[in-house]
This record gives sequence, structure tokens and C-alpha cells, in this order.
Amino acid sequence: MDLNKLDIKRASVGLKNRDFSSLELTEAFFAKIEQEDQKINSFLFTTKDLALRQAKKVDARIAKREKLSALAGIPMSVKDNILVRGEKNTCGSKMLKNYIAPYDATAIVRLKKEGAVILGKTNLDEFAMGSSTENSAFKTTKNPLDLTRVPGGSSGGPAASVAADLAIYSLCSDTGGSIRQPASFCGVVGFKPTYGAVSRYGLVAFASSLDQIGTITKTVADAEIVFKAISGIDPNDSTSVDLAKIERKKNGKIKMGVPKEYFSSDDYQTKEIVKKAITEKGFELVDISLPNTKYALAVYYIIMPSEASSNLSRFDGIKYGLHVAGDDLLGSYLKTKGTGFGDEVKRRIMLGTYSLSAGYYDAYYLQAQKVRNLIKQDFAKAFEKVDAIFAPTTPTVAFKIGEKADDPLAMYLEDIFTVSVNLAGLPAISVPVGNIDNLPVGLQIIGKHFREDVILKIAKNYA
Ligand code: GLN
Repeated sequence: MDLNKLDIKRASVGLKNRDFSSLELTEAFFAKIEQEDQKINSFLFTTKDLALRQAKKVDARIAKREKLSALAGIPMSVKDNILVRGEKNTCGSKMLKNYIAPYDATAIVRLKKEGAVILGKTNLDEFAMGSSTENSAFKTTKNPLDLTRVPGGSSGGPAASVAADLAIYSLCSDTGGSIRQPASFCGVVGFKPTYGAVSRYGLVAFASSLDQIGTITKTVADAEIVFKAISGIDPNDSTSVDLAKIERKKNGKIKMGVPKEYFSSDDYQTKEIVKKAITEKGFELVDISLPNTKYALAVYYIIMPSEASSNLSRFDGIKYGLHVAGDDLLGSYLKTKGTGFGDEVKRRIMLGTYSLSAGYYDAYYLQAQKVRNLIKQDFAKAFEKVDAIFAPTTPTVAFKIGEKADDPLAMYLEDIFTVSVNLAGLPAISVPVGNIDNLPVGLQIIGKHFREDVILKIAKNYA
């Protein structure tokens, strides 16, 4: 049996049947990481002591025939912007190169309680800003399916680690597509829950009204297992929600919305494959319109940098991370930020401070908030007629390393199908549905608020 190829469900059965121990399983992953990650660069560092301790603990419980959760003893990776106590948390930035997390993120607390085995922290675009993982200050992750191509981003490390069988699943974040787009590029399942469904406590804040923790897995069933473990209200995140209190009406026959803005607009590379995928499972398809889609990217690239510029002001060289001394206090601020942040982070801080500045606030930030409301209303209206919505995840398959690195606008266009979901706070999942020249294409399924159950059920038809 190839232990590295197992998904959560099968690995969990194997552990319970004692086909192998959690220690054996975990060691198989470290062996493969050692052998193969030099060429892929999905991990920034491993957390071997923590992993082996946890695996042994689970094995002891198996020996005592205790009842275990499906995640007990299962090796996984964590995007390096989610805190794991006592381990480094770099966010792919020189600013936090030596920062040690003082506490566990709530999602990590919950996974540890289930007995999850944390193999290490995976690479990302600096502070999760990017679509290719080329913005990491430390290394460029490669797409395991074609090493000359990007794995997507910002969760390129997590997606590559799962696609290359270096972890069974990965915990990561999505602010504008960072889970779904790399999942699509690497041929795995990327799941972004509703805003508020999973606590953001211990996720390093990027754009707080958009950020959400989710997963990259091999199957949809696995995404559901992890979601159940990490979701729910948390006193440390006032935007988190008690899912038990959500009223969920039973669905009749599922009706799937097909937004004309995504399918009849200009041609793009993935369109034919996605169109084929939405017809082949026999779903009832309903034409819908999301008329403000054309503004989504512009709105996202105002709101996201505004929030980022505010969130990142905490990295001043005094409270956290890197400190570079200058002649006086202002000099130290300037030198620390100038050295610690990479170009893309600086670009977004400048964009954000500009759109929040007194003279331009009304014209940019406030205006963007108004259009964000229109985008939300588009979805609300569509969901009066349909249970979920089909969309492409990305306009292209994985592109070449370096191809878009010097063209921020071309890079931002990668997010065209994913950002509306974050602006509206909706849940969405990307599943692999085909290939172009051996490079995977993802289908995106977007749901109503807190109807993860519906999109997971639909997605199970594909992966
Ligand atoms: N690619 C998007 C961006 O650069 C999304 C990032 C994310 O979701 N973290 O902002």
C-alpha cells in the first residue's frame, strides 16, 4: 500500500484496522518530503517533534482501543499564516522570519484536539498577497504536475503539498481566491466556507472582512470532515457564528444557476471544459445574471488593500518581528518596513493608504463599499431562484513561473472568478473537472450563506 496516496477517509480506516500506525504513516510523509520537496518547495519548514509526539499519542489511544475521530493520526500541512504555538510563523515575509507563534489558532486548537498530526508549515505569497506563490520572500513553490509552472497562490505551498502526496490535507486561508485558485491549478479540492463559519482567530489578518480559513483536500468528503472539526462559534472571533442556530430549509430538486456574465462573456481558456462539466451530471440548470460582476475585481482591489494597509501597520518593528534601527523612531519605522516588506506588499499598502486618505476616501473606499453591496444583492437575488451557482474557478490553467511576475494587473486578472465570493461572504468549492494539455481545470460551486451542506453534496458528484 502506498501510504502517501491515501485520503483522510482511507487513512483513518487503515489506522483503526491497525494496517499501519500513525507513526508509520507520519514517517512515510517525512521520508517523501525529504526526498521530493527539494524540487517542489511546498514546505517552508517541518515541525517534526510536534508531529511525532502527536502520532505517538494517537497510537497509544489506538492501542487502548479508544474511539477516535476521523482526523486522529492523519498527517497534514498548515499554511504559514495560521498560528501553531511554539513554531515559526513567517507569512512568507522577511518581516516575520524569526517570529514564533505564542498561541494556537482556534482551528489548530480544534484539529489538535481531534488528534491531527501537523507535519509543517507551507509556503505562500507574502502575507497571502498573490496568485502564484512567487511573492514569497523565501522560495518559489513549483506546480507538482509541471515544475516549470506555478502552483497558484497564495496557498501554493498547501496545494502543492497535497497534490504531490506530501500531506493528506492542508489548512489554509482564502481572501480573494487563495484556496480555490491553487486547488484548481494543482488538481485538488479547495473549499472556502462562509465568512464566519470558521473562526479567524490566529490567522494573520490580511483583509479582515474577506479572510476565511478553509481547506485543500484530495476529496470533497475529506473537505467535509475537516470543516465539521474546525467550524463553529468562537468567543475569540466576534464574527464567528453558531452554526447550530442557522435555519436550513430542505431542498427539493437542486437547481443550479449559470451566470451569463461568467459563461457568455469573452472567451477564456478554461471555458469549454467548465461548460461541459456543468451539463454532464444532469443538474437542472437555470440562467441567471449577476450584473455587477464586472466591478468585482475593481472593488476587491480597493477594499482588500485598504484593509491590508490598516492590518499591516502593526508591523512597525517595535511590537513584532523584524527591527532595523534608524536614527530616530521614524527612521526605524521606515527602515524596518522598507527592508521587511516585499514589493507586492508595499504596493498594496500604498494603494490602501491612498484610497483611505481624507481626500480620496469618498471616491474610492466608500464607493467600493457601495458597489460591494450591489454585488451582494446580485447573489441574494439569484439565490431566490437557485440553490447554488456554477462558475469557473480560474480563466486559465497554471501559467509558467515568471510569466506574470512583472505584470501585477495580469496577475490580478487571475482572481476574476473568485473575488465576488469573498466580497459577498459566500461559501464556495473548487473541484477538478478536466485537463488542458495535462494541466487541471477547476469548477467552482458557490452556495448560499451557511449552506456548505448543499455545495458539498453537489461537489461530491465530481471529486
Ligand atoms: N490572489 C488574490 C490576491 O492576491 C487572493 C489572495 C488571497 O485569497 N489570499 O489578493
